[in-house]
Amino acid sequence: MKVLSLVVPCYNEEQSLPYFYDEIVRIAGILTEVEFEILLVDDGSKDKTLEVMRGLHEKDERVKYISFSRNFGKEAAMYAGLMNVTGDYAAIIDADLQHPPELLIEMYHGIVEEHYDSVAARRVTREGEPKLRSFFSRCFYRLLNRISKVEIVDGSVDYRLMTRQMVNAVLSMSEKNRFTKGIFAWVGFKTKWVEFKNVERVAGETKWSFWKLFLYSLEGIIGFSTAPLAIASFLGLAFCGISFLAILVIVMKTLIWGDPTTGWPSLACIILMVSGVQLFCMGILGQYLGKMYVETKNRPVYLIREAQTKNLDLDPDGYQKRQEP
Ligand code: UDP
Ligand code: MG
Repeated sequence: MKVLSLVVPCYNEEQSLPYFYDEIVRIAGILTEVEFEILLVDDGSKDKTLEVMRGLHEKDERVKYISFSRNFGKEAAMYAGLMNVTGDYAAIIDADLQHPPELLIEMYHGIVEEHYDSVAARRVTREGEPKLRSFFSRCFYRLLNRISKVEIVDGSVDYRLMTRQMVNAVLSMSEKNRFTKGIFAWVGFKTKWVEFKNVERVAGETKWSFWKLFLYSLEGIIGFSTAPLAIASFLGLAFCGISFLAILVIVMKTLIWGDPTTGWPSLACIILMVSGVQLFCMGILGQYLGKMYVETKNRPVYLIREAQTKNLDLDPDGYQKRQEP
């Protein structure tokens, strides 16, 4: 029997986990042709999430868990989850039931019957989300799709079922600054999209502030496009052109009308503006440099403090190693 693994990043989800578990058990009862493996990844929660996980593991041996030494972020949790699942298929799904578990059935059939490599979910409404946030989010995707080679579908969420082949492809991208939506798009493979309506989380509250989302969007842009680096060259050229024209005008004015150009305020403004542009461009360089700095330090993406998974210990290369006797 084939195994379908679920990777569930959890950060302070003590309230939603029991609901989530019940739903998954219900779906597993419908999808009886595969065996389920549920890997809960505790991303350094500050509440009783880990205790809830231990309880679920005691009750049901299909439930396994990994607990981080601190909060490493959802990206790290998804990576750790994919690293440690053993399934022939693996899905990433949120613990707050905002990713409807019923979709798993459709996703599974998309892979098994229609032979897609992955089936991903796409939100078609953004109800219940602040208007301003939806607006910025749309702008971000439009911008990213324009300036990078990867195509990220608007409304796509981190909810998808993949074959083992695609999971391994995703894992082969071992970058430290992870932007999973970009990684999914980058690895390619045949993806089917299923749509769903936004639902409110079942319990608890969102962990994403506007600022966190903003930093995450920078991760996406810097990780998947080098277009911002070109901005400096374009601006530099543009300013050269403008100054050349300005010099021409001043020389002509002096020669024709004998007009001694006056006015330090205009000069001060120009200096301010040009130095502003220079700083801005240096800032862009700095962003790339900073990411490179993080990559070269080669620190682990996550650290496990406690794990309860069937046949692997604290081994980040678990799946690959187990394949060899
Ligand atoms: N999450 C996580 N680490 C974090 C923040 C969030 O593992 O640092 C998990 C969280 O427990 C949930 C999923 O990522 O299962 C999505 O988070 P959330 O529901 O807060 O985001 P939203 O749905 O509001 O975008
Ligand atoms: Mg949520």
